[in-house]
Amino acid sequence: MRYEAPESLETAIALLARANGEARVLAGGTDLLVQIRSDVLDPELIVDIKKIPETRAVAEEGGGWRIGAAVTGAELGEHARLKRTWPGVVEAANLIGSTQIQGRATLGGNLGNGSPAADSVPALIAAGAVATVSGPEGKRDIPVEDVMLGPRKLSLRKGEFIVSFLLPPRPKGSGDAYLRFIPRTEMDIAVVGSGVSLTVDGAGVVTAARVALGAVAEKVLLVPEAARAIIGTGLDRAARERLEAAARAACRPIDDKRGTREFRTEVAGVLTRRAALIALDRARTR
Ligand SMILES: Cc1cc2nc3c(=O)[nH]c(=O)nc-3n(C[C@H](O)[C@H](O)[C@H](O)COP(=O)(O)OP(=O)(O)OC[C@H]3O[C@@H](n4cnc5c(N)ncnc54)[C@H](O)[C@@H]3O)c2cc1C
Repeated sequence: MRYEAPESLETAIALLARANGEARVLAGGTDLLVQIRSDVLDPELIVDIKKIPETRAVAEEGGGWRIGAAVTGAELGEHARLKRTWPGVVEAANLIGSTQIQGRATLGGNLGNGSPAADSVPALIAAGAVATVSGPEGKRDIPVEDVMLGPRKLSLRKGEFIVSFLLPPRPKGSGDAYLRFIPRTEMDIAVVGSGVSLTVDGAGVVTAARVALGAVAEKVLLVPEAARAIIGTGLDRAARERLEAAARAACRPIDDKRGTREFRTEVAGVLTRRAALIALDRARTR
């Protein structure tokens, strides 16, 4: 196995594009190294992207935020302004693993691992985040909901990797939230995860919303019907019931020892309602 740690995007892309056998990007390694050590993967080439400056920066851009794909959860949690603007995205990233894992795990790795239960992905999708990807044919932007196709399957082409994420500008009166259900208090994989982002006008009416669900299908789902259920409402009881029903209707989960189909579907509705109420509360104070 060959290990390379290039300092530029161009070198990383060239290495990945030229690889004959399996090539993998390495960010924090909290998924990749576990998979290599347990013989799930045996890549011929590992390209560590942490020395590439574009993957490590957090900066305001065009009124929004650009977050490098190799920025760690701990670094996001320490970024007070980003946390104020996108509390749901940061809380989702900060749910990943333990203190030790937080020092390594990245948003790019969470999405790149291709797990339908990845915690930061529903929050990024709810936020309307776009992944900026670079490869041999140049740079392209992909909405985060279109990056993952299914378990361990991404829409990235050979030689491409995620360089950064762009979170859009945030109108006044906006809030987001992410909640997950796990059988214990931490260090577990989401049985269901729900991310909600919304904007309210001066009268408290929801003018825009996005809802995303994790661990209830083969990939993290954007659920436009759930957003439509609350747009134009003040999240009154009837709207909350429609939201729950729309979230449940979108679920097509697996049935396993961690949660039955019925349980996951039920919890998806409950978590989405709760996340929407937290997002609403945050929107009112912003
Ligand atoms: C003890 C423990 C607890 C965990 N708890 C959670 C949890 O609560 N929630 C959760 O969601 N996950 C959890 N995980 C999984 C893991 O920590 C996360 O998925 C993490 O975000 C992966 O990031 P990383 O930087 O370590 O990725 P890596 O391990 O470096 O990479 C993961 C995969 O993504 C690819 N990749 C990495 N960066 C990119 C990129 N920029 N572009 C394209 N592909 C890329 C790699 O090639 C690899 O296939 C846990 C893992 C451990 C070991």
